[in-house]
Amino acid sequence: MSARAGIVVTGTEVLTGRIQDLNGPWVADRLLELGVELAHITICGDRPADIEAQLRFLAAEGVDLIVTSGGLGPTADDLTVATVARFCGRDLVLDTELEERIAEILRRLTARRSDIDFDSLRAANRKQAMVPAGATILEPVGTAPGVVVPGSPTVLVLPGPPRELQPMWRTAVETDAVRDAIAGRTEYRQETVRMFGLPESALAETLREGERDVPGFERLEITTCLRRGELEIVTRYEPDAAPAYQDLLTLLRDRHGSMIFSEDGSLVDDQVADLLSGRTIATAESCTGGMLSARLTDRAGASAYVAGGAVCYADTAKVDLLGVPADLIATHGAVSEPVAVAMADGALRRFGADVAVAVTGIAGPGGGTDTKPVGTVCFCVRQAGSEPVTRTVRLPGNRSDVRERSTTVAMHLLRRALRGA
Ligand code: ATP
Ligand code: MG
Repeated sequence: MSARAGIVVTGTEVLTGRIQDLNGPWVADRLLELGVELAHITICGDRPADIEAQLRFLAAEGVDLIVTSGGLGPTADDLTVATVARFCGRDLVLDTELEERIAEILRRLTARRSDIDFDSLRAANRKQAMVPAGATILEPVGTAPGVVVPGSPTVLVLPGPPRELQPMWRTAVETDAVRDAIAGRTEYRQETVRMFGLPESALAETLREGERDVPGFERLEITTCLRRGELEIVTRYEPDAAPAYQDLLTLLRDRHGSMIFSEDGSLVDDQVADLLSGRTIATAESCTGGMLSARLTDRAGASAYVAGGAVCYADTAKVDLLGVPADLIATHGAVSEPVAVAMADGALRRFGADVAVAVTGIAGPGGGTDTKPVGTVCFCVRQAGSEPVTRTVRLPGNRSDVRERSTTVAMHLLRRALRGA
């Protein structure tokens, strides 16, 4: 037994890339959690013929459930429900009680606005109360109801705005119609291991070893992904294959123990946030232009440990704001470990923090030299009362890669320093 699904993301703004698709990946994760195999995500514009073609394609692929996103609004270009009804061979019928509930929502939304003609608004929204005969209705989160049309495949129609789609999804999976459609799902466990600093080829070698030596290895569905210098290994398996996963984990620890920083799915950002509890941090950034500071303050509650940061791009700013000695820059260059140390010292002093991190590097595409090519980045982590930790790396990629990777390297240096490693 198994259950398979497909996702149809609609919307010309998504097709053209003006809006990044958030619904496909989000629903994909939820399906995975449920143990439903995702066969395809397709994206098309708002044209009914295109939406229908995708429904036909997925039905021909034999999926049990199709999830659509978008096109439930009141305007003429929102045609998903009508298209799905036609595809499923069902009439569109006016649900007068639903119409009344939508009218009530609109009344509340427009209560304090005198410039809106309620009657014409209501007429436009009558369209949203037209539902396929026999469909299960999902109550509106905004003004648009969703529907589940049972059949093979069952089609679940959800609104486009993520803040509406996500709560409605939770209701949808509780309905009999969706439950029946995915009755064949398999229970899976999913575990994530993250490593830093290991090339993908070395991991591939270890996985080949696992294939040879770990009993039940073929029952583990392993996906590896290299991102920002971190290697993410996601393993999905049925509960009775747990011993094989434990053996794999033992093998990974054995071969790459020092590179593994997470076995529980936590991100380096989560770990740094935990480690900073009871301490304060300051940043001194040159080539990353504040990206490290943005990353550190991304989490709610960051005010408990982030003291502040200085973006000192020009040499004069390093001298004036962080107190980096001008002759240090003249002697070693702005991209050098001594300057990184002086920047960290300056930040530590200026912000009265317990820990400071400094980043100075050459993001490119210009500015590289033979001895310091583009991608050369120097770091310093300084904790009050202990020796500075410095590092110089040569990062691959373009300007944006170098800047992003630099923030990741800084986070890992910070993690190690805070753990006292
Ligand atoms: P509305 O009633 O707002 O028109 P709708 O169900 O008709 O809702 P769409 O018209 O397809 O949805 O999209 C409305 C807006 O929702 C889009 O302009 C976009 O901001 C957001 N949105 C839609 N689909 C997606 C998506 N796949 N990923 C991210 N945002 C989306
Ligand atoms: Mg719309």
